[in-house]
Amino acid sequence: MTTNDNHGFSTRAIHAGQTPDETTGAVIPPVHFSTTYAQDGIGGLRNGYEYGRGTNPTRDALQQQLAELEGGTHALSFASGLAAEDALLRAVLEPGNHVLMGDDVYGGTHRLVRRIFGQWGIGLTTMDFSDLDGVRTMIGQLAPKVLWLETPSNPLMKVTDVAALAEIAHDAGILVVVDNTFATPYLQTPLALGADVVVHSTTKYLGGHSDVVGGALVLNDDELASRVGFQQFAAGAVSGPMDAWLTTRGIKTLAVRMDRHCHNAQAVAEAMVGHAGVARVLYPGLDSHPGHELAARQMRGFGGMVSLDLTGGEGAARRFCESLEVFTLAESLGGVESLVNYPSEMTHASVRGTALEVPASIVRLSVGIEDAADLVADVEQALARL
Ligand SMILES: *Cc1c(COP(=O)(O)O)cnc(C)c1O
Repeated sequence: MTTNDNHGFSTRAIHAGQTPDETTGAVIPPVHFSTTYAQDGIGGLRNGYEYGRGTNPTRDALQQQLAELEGGTHALSFASGLAAEDALLRAVLEPGNHVLMGDDVYGGTHRLVRRIFGQWGIGLTTMDFSDLDGVRTMIGQLAPKVLWLETPSNPLMKVTDVAALAEIAHDAGILVVVDNTFATPYLQTPLALGADVVVHSTTKYLGGHSDVVGGALVLNDDELASRVGFQQFAAGAVSGPMDAWLTTRGIKTLAVRMDRHCHNAQAVAEAMVGHAGVARVLYPGLDSHPGHELAARQMRGFGGMVSLDLTGGEGAARRFCESLEVFTLAESLGGVESLVNYPSEMTHASVRGTALEVPASIVRLSVGIEDAADLVADVEQALARL
């Protein structure tokens, strides 16, 4: 199949990069473990394949699949989400440059820019991206090179207007990067909204089964793609063939999984509204969520992540996490199984003491694709034990 053809999402998810094997007709292309490729005379490469860090057919298939789903012309697959972010930032930043970031992003992203890039002379400022006038002012003051946002955000589920921010940033020549891990391309396609680069932790919904760590970048600009491609090749944080294959397999069922994640998350969120132990339910699928209308416009569904702000504060949040029986207490998200996470001490421990610190009363649910009634009952029994 060719890039960006007119087929629907699931047809592209299942067939992009998955042409049956030419030798055997194997419907699932074999996983290519070879690190090196025979040359027909010195420099006589077959289809450009030379060495596994540079190119690998299994990784290429995943990259084609990702590009088609995000509507980009280039995709690059990495060993983790953070490896993808690192390669992108090294490709675009120079010492003295500044990054302007939303104030509610994945803790590891903030840590990467603050603690690793900070040592190499990169400045970082975080702010609330729902304040568009504030963003204009900040851009005027800082002249940042990169604007980095996550929507819905992690873990407070804030929704940011990608098209509006992209317009403001592009007027000032700034690169707009959207971490689309929470929404996935099934629910939101940031490139179509004006973003320049999409970042994924494929470890989450794209892999979808909590059994493979990976990351990706998707973009349209040929020149930037070649600079990032050079980082991928020269610094070498590529995804291995088995990891790439598992991710491709996961992506084939993304649409059916996301439909069920959205359905179950909506059910859990609605059951929690008005519950005595719950001060706020943070889920963009609720009419009461401040980003509901924007999410309805910019997304095709509200996703599987729900955060709860518990009335009983830290003690209640800790007891709640430890009382759930179907939800497993663990880091990460986006797998078929439901997980609960206590951000202030788990995923977001690295931003404690910064402006991004997550309140101690917040718990984050990754609502899986089990039976909705079992998940609602589990959350209710845990609240009853507070
Ligand atoms: C997990 C995550 C990352 C980091 O990805 P890794 O695969 O763990 O390196 C980045 N952004 C978001 C939103 C995440 O959830």
